Amino acid sequence: MGLLLKIFIPLLGLALALYFYSAPENFNEEMLRGKRVIVTGASSGIGEQVAYHLARMEAHLLLTARTEAKLQKVVERCLELGAASARYVSGSMEDTTFPAVVVREAENTWGGLDMLILNHIGYSYFNYFNGDVGQVRKLLETNFLSYVAMTVSALPMLKESEGSIVVVSSVAGKTGSPFAASYSATKFALEGFFSSLRHEFIIDKVNVSITLCILGYINTENAMRAISHVIRSTPAPKEECALEIIRSGALRQRELHYPPGVVGSLLLLRNIAPDLLDSFIRSNYEVENIRR
Ligand code: NAP
Repeated sequence: MGLLLKIFIPLLGLALALYFYSAPENFNEEMLRGKRVIVTGASSGIGEQVAYHLARMEAHLLLTARTEAKLQKVVERCLELGAASARYVSGSMEDTTFPAVVVREAENTWGGLDMLILNHIGYSYFNYFNGDVGQVRKLLETNFLSYVAMTVSALPMLKESEGSIVVVSSVAGKTGSPFAASYSATKFALEGFFSSLRHEFIIDKVNVSITLCILGYINTENAMRAISHVIRSTPAPKEECALEIIRSGALRQRELHYPPGVVGSLLLLRNIAPDLLDSFIRSNYEVENIRR
């Protein structure tokens, strides 16, 4: 079984990577020039890199997260890189009124919006589920309900501009992940909500695209700190990941799989051999390094 997994997964990954990379490319960075974009969770990690790419592409940026000092630095860097404009609103997505505050800031500043990139996540421990229902509820508020609330507030402006919603999710939102039960639940919820909404937009002829980004392990500081001692695989670069997120949103793709080979093969296995996938996932963890 181990040998089969070692040969089968890379081969499948290679085939899928070739397929994805040979797909027609019609992304042009100018597509983002002058666009008005909100990026959540932009003070660090993938969101910060998304902001830098968009700045280089001369977009208008409204960034948000909790830590004002970090946001200030990211905004300064964005302006140096060439952003058409850059500002921030700090606050916590645990606060149910905050999503509307962010969107109102965009409306007051720009009078419209072209792209909403929902990327933030609240803190969740990486360990056996501890039975704390309150913690699951709090994480649902931050990782899921605030995404819904941001979308509801931003929708009138996005309908007007025929804009895009980009939802950053995870492989853990497609298949169960040990030691991340609460996090995984919030990511599964995103898929249910936004895939249903996409249907309704099509039926109702609402020309707002929804892109769900299914990410594997990415080398952000927080992710590395939380799981590098347990997970065997090598993380993919956050800079490239951020660019792929923007590209898939601009091309109005249904889903992004990044890194393409790894995520593509995991999702294929999930459909054709779920038990094999589960055993592969468990074999990728050094369980002895989990401190109870
Ligand atoms: P990260 O580096 O931990 O960044 C999280 C961002 O969210 C930060 O800007 C943080 O800033 C903000 N944030 C945290 N709590 C918040 C709250 N209560 N209210 C508002 N903002 C809050 O995360 P990342 O690794 O870049 O992940 C970004 C996205 O990619 C997430 O959706 C994650 O699920 C997804 N993803 C990541 C990986 C990976 O391996 N890195 C894998 C799969 C999917 P403050 O602390 O200043 O608020």
